[in-house]
Amino acid sequence: MIRPYVLSETNWKHLKDAKVDLAVLPWGATEAHNYHLPYATDVIEGTAIAEESARIAWESGTRIIVLPTIHFGVNTGQSDIYLDMNLNPSTQAAILRDILTVLSRQGIYKFVLLNSHGGNNWKAIIRELGLQFPEMFLCVCEWVNILDRNRYFEEPGDHADEMETSLILHLAPQWVLPKSEWGKGREKKNRIQAFRDGWAWTERPWSQISEDTGVGNPHGATSEKGAAFFRDICSSVAGLFMELGDMDRDDLYK
Ligand SMILES: [Zn+2]
Repeated sequence: MIRPYVLSETNWKHLKDAKVDLAVLPWGATEAHNYHLPYATDVIEGTAIAEESARIAWESGTRIIVLPTIHFGVNTGQSDIYLDMNLNPSTQAAILRDILTVLSRQGIYKFVLLNSHGGNNWKAIIRELGLQFPEMFLCVCEWVNILDRNRYFEEPGDHADEMETSLILHLAPQWVLPKSEWGKGREKKNRIQAFRDGWAWTERPWSQISEDTGVGNPHGATSEKGAAFFRDICSSVAGLFMELGDMDRDDLYK
């Protein structure tokens, strides 16, 4: 079935008379995810969350369109990991500027970037583009920060961990290697306390912090956990989409 709120699937017949208020751009990455998950893991997650959340919003009347996901992200810390792709932040800013130019020209002034990869940092870029597109409302949604993962998963982690493995077991199980192939996702921590505590930051050279490229033990992952987490994430993201659709940006603060 053609979904009218997914740009890749819809058509000119529908769009020539349509009016869209809100555009969503999922932005992922193409990179190793432990031994067992596909390189497109962040793309699969971001696309599925955007489309399912948009479906819920669309069905309650939000005039929304999901743009095709950008598959490459910032992977400056993984330059020695085979076929991890990298877009520099300045390249991302240039791509985003062109996309916003199209949307603005066509009168779509509400925009949300659905971020699906930890190496993509949007605040500085959104700040700068906000000055260049004052007619637009720009925002970023970090779906990984929505829910308390401890309520869904046993082991903490942040890359190809129990959470991501569960999500991909739910969304694309055909691309997950058997459990016997899963690495432990053990992370080596920085020797300097300030970096461990998070008040100083430096790029992590990925090949030095993890042997299997994973950070977080995936072994408790199941598709049922992934399904429950996915459903609750999409319910929150759909709520945001609906509120953005209704929002009057001149009356946003009370
Ligand atoms: Zn990921």
